[in-house]
Amino acid sequence: MATQHNLGFPRIGGKRELKFALEDFWHGKSDAAELQNTALTLRQQNWQTQATLDWVPVGDFSLYDQVLDMSHTLGNLPERGQHGGSELDQYFRIARGRSAHDSDCHCVAAGEMTKWFDTNYHYIVPEVSADTEFSLNSERLLTQFTEAQQQGVHAKPVVIGPVTYLWLAKSKDSSNRLNLLDKLLPVYRQLLDELASAGAEWVQIDEPVLVTELDDAWRSAIERSYHTLKSERPKLLLTTYFGTLEQNLRLACELPVAGLHIDAVRGHSEVCKVIDWLPSHKVLSLGVIDGRNIWKTDLNRLLDWLEPVAEQLKERLWLAPSCSLLHVPVCLESEPTLDAEVKNWLAFARQKLTELNTLASAINQGRASVAEQLAENRLAIESRSHSTRVHNAAVEQSVAAIGESDGQRQSSFAERAKLQADALQLPSFPTTTIGSFPQTPEIRAARRAFNQQQLSAEEYEARMQAEIWRAVKEQEELGLDVLVHGEAERNDMVEYFGEQLEGFVFSRFGWVQSYGSRCVKPPILFGDVRRPKPITVDWARYAQSLTNKPMKGMLTGPVTILNWSFVRDDQPRSQTCRQLALAIRDEVQDLEKAGIKIIQIDEAALREGLPLRKSQWQHYLNWAVDAFRLSANGVDDKTQIHTHMCYSEFNDIIEAIAQMDADVITIETSRSDMELLDVFDEFEYPNQIGPGVYDIHSPNIPTVEQMAQLMNQAKARIPAERLWVNPDCGLKTRQWQEVLPALKNMVDAAKELRAAL
Ligand code: GLN
Ligand code: ZN
Repeated sequence: MATQHNLGFPRIGGKRELKFALEDFWHGKSDAAELQNTALTLRQQNWQTQATLDWVPVGDFSLYDQVLDMSHTLGNLPERGQHGGSELDQYFRIARGRSAHDSDCHCVAAGEMTKWFDTNYHYIVPEVSADTEFSLNSERLLTQFTEAQQQGVHAKPVVIGPVTYLWLAKSKDSSNRLNLLDKLLPVYRQLLDELASAGAEWVQIDEPVLVTELDDAWRSAIERSYHTLKSERPKLLLTTYFGTLEQNLRLACELPVAGLHIDAVRGHSEVCKVIDWLPSHKVLSLGVIDGRNIWKTDLNRLLDWLEPVAEQLKERLWLAPSCSLLHVPVCLESEPTLDAEVKNWLAFARQKLTELNTLASAINQGRASVAEQLAENRLAIESRSHSTRVHNAAVEQSVAAIGESDGQRQSSFAERAKLQADALQLPSFPTTTIGSFPQTPEIRAARRAFNQQQLSAEEYEARMQAEIWRAVKEQEELGLDVLVHGEAERNDMVEYFGEQLEGFVFSRFGWVQSYGSRCVKPPILFGDVRRPKPITVDWARYAQSLTNKPMKGMLTGPVTILNWSFVRDDQPRSQTCRQLALAIRDEVQDLEKAGIKIIQIDEAALREGLPLRKSQWQHYLNWAVDAFRLSANGVDDKTQIHTHMCYSEFNDIIEAIAQMDADVITIETSRSDMELLDVFDEFEYPNQIGPGVYDIHSPNIPTVEQMAQLMNQAKARIPAERLWVNPDCGLKTRQWQEVLPALKNMVDAAKELRAAL
C-alpha cells in the first residue's frame, strides 16, 4: 500500500482571500480577529481539499512567509521590531517595515527579502549574529495542529530544518552561522518533543539545501543535526525538493530519520540510486507530480515506471507532489474563460492532488479501479502532444535555421558607438528614463472598461494615445534627451507581450504568491511561439511623430518572458527561449524599419533563471545570452540597443552581461552608492552604462546634489563619455507629482555634470 501525502498547499486562497484580508488589516479596515478568522477559514478549506490524503501538511500556512514564521517559532525575530504593539504587529513590522510617518515611533527596517531557491517566491531572510539566542515559540504550530486534528485529518506538521534555516539566514556580524547550530538544535528537539506530545506521528522536516552544492562544513552540520534530533517519536520525514541530491545523495539516505522525500520529477534519474542506498526500514516518499509547473501528469506513463518501484518498496512507498504546491495556482475550476483545449492539458494545485489520488488508487487497487480517470488522462496527454496549436512547423523551421551570424552585430561596439553618436547627436551624460510613466487610475479605469467591452477599441486607443501625448510633452518640457512613450497601454511587461504572441494563454485567477500579499499571474506558454503581427510598432511610431527627440522603443526580452511564465515541459527551456527571441527579433527589426533609432530590450529577470547549482550556471547563461543577442542583433550598426536590469548582483555574471553586448545597459544602483559599478570597472566592461540615480521605490524626490553626487561616484569608476543619467527603473508605480520634480532635478544634475566636464 502506497501512502499519499502533500508537502504544502497554496495559502493565498483561490480568490486571493488572504491578500485582501491582509491589506484590509494593514490599512486599518479590519482587526486582528477578522484577519485570523479568514486565515482559519483558508486553512480549513485547504485541509478539506486535502482530506483524501493519508497525511496532510500543517504549519505550511503562513500569514506572510513560512521562513519568517520559522524565525518566530525559533524566537529569532529581529529585536528592532519588538517594541510596542501586539505579537502580530511585531511580526508584520519585520515583514514590511515601518516608516517614520506611520506613527510617532521610530522607523523599523523590514527584513531583507530574497528568492526562495530557484522559485519566484521571496522569503524574509533570518538575521543572526554570534550572540543570537533561540527560544521556542511553538504556539502557532501546536494550535494549527490541534485545528487540523479537530477537523479529522491526519496532520503532519511541517518545519524548515535547522541546517536550511541557518543556510537561509544572513549573519549580521560576519560570524559563521554554523556556530549557532549547537544553540539551535535543543530548540528543535524541544519543538519535536512538544509535537510528539500533542500527538504528531510524523513531522516533515524540510532540508532543500540538500539539492545545492554543500561544502564539508554544511554537510557535517546536516549529519550532526539529524544524529542529535533522532527519535522514535515523532518520526522525521527528511524532505528535499527542487532538484537532484548528487554529492549529497548518500548523506541524505544514511541519516538517522524514518523517511526521505525526494523530488522525483527533477531528480527522476536518481530514484534507483536512492532506492539502493536507502536502508530498508525507511520510508521513501517520491515527489512524482510536478509542483513547479501547471501541466497534467502523464499518469499512464508514470505508472509504467512506478508500478515496479511500488512492487519493490511496498509499504515503504509514499507518493506526493515534488515540492510544496505553493508555487502553482489553486484551482482550474475557477477558469471558465480559459481556452478549453489548453485547459484540458492543465492541472493546478487541486487538480494535482486529484492526480495523486488517482495514482495512489492505481498502485493500491490496480489500474482498473481508476480506468476512467486514466483513459481521460491519456486522451488529454495525447491531445497535447499532437496538437497543431503546440507544434507549428514554420516556427520549428525558423528556429532550426538560426545561424551563427544572426546573433552577431555587424561591427564591434567601438565602431557602432561612433556611428550611433553621429546619428543621434546626444549631449554627454544623456538623460533618459527606463520606460514606464505613472499608471494612473484613469489608465487603469480605461483598460478595465475596454476589457469589459464598455469601451471600444478605437476609444481605448485614443485614450492611450492621449496618455502617450502627455508623457511626450512632459518629457520635452523637462528637457530629457531620449524619450519613451510611457507604456500606458501595458498591463504588465510580460503579460502584454504574451497576449500578442501565439503560444500563450492567460488565466483569470492563476495567482501565485510572490511575497507577503503580493501575487503574480504568470502567463502560460503552451506552444510554439509566433508573432502574428507587430506589437508595439504603431504606438512607437505615434510617439516618435510627436517629437524630434529620439524615441526609445521598449520591449521585454526573451529570457524575462520565459522566466516569468509557466512554460511548456515538452522541450528544453532553451528551445522555447529561442522561439521567443525570434519573435522579439522581428519586433526589433520592425521598430527599426519604422524609424525608431534606439530600442530597449528589458531583461529584468535574467538572474531569475540561474540554476541552483553553480556548476550549471554557465550552460544557462550561454543560452540565455544567445537568446538576448538573437533578439537584439538583427539591426543596423546605427541602431542603438539598450537593455535594462533591476537591482541585481552583477559580480558573478559580469562576463555574461558583457557578452550580451548591448550598446547601453541601465541598472538599478541608487541605493548601492554606485558600488554595483565596481565590477563593471574591474572587468573593464566596454559599453555604455546608465547607473540609476533616482530610487523609484521611494516617494522621496531626490535633489540635484544627491543625483550629481551619485554620478560623480559613477564617474570615479566608469569614464564619463560612457555614462548615461536615468532612474533606477520604470516609473509606473509612482505619481506624476513625484516624478516631474524628480526628473527635473535629474536633468539639472546632468547639466551640472556637463558643465563640469
Ligand atoms: N520598461 C519597464 C518599465 O519601465 C521595465 C520594468 C522592469 O525593469 N521591471 O516599467
Ligand atoms: Zn527595472
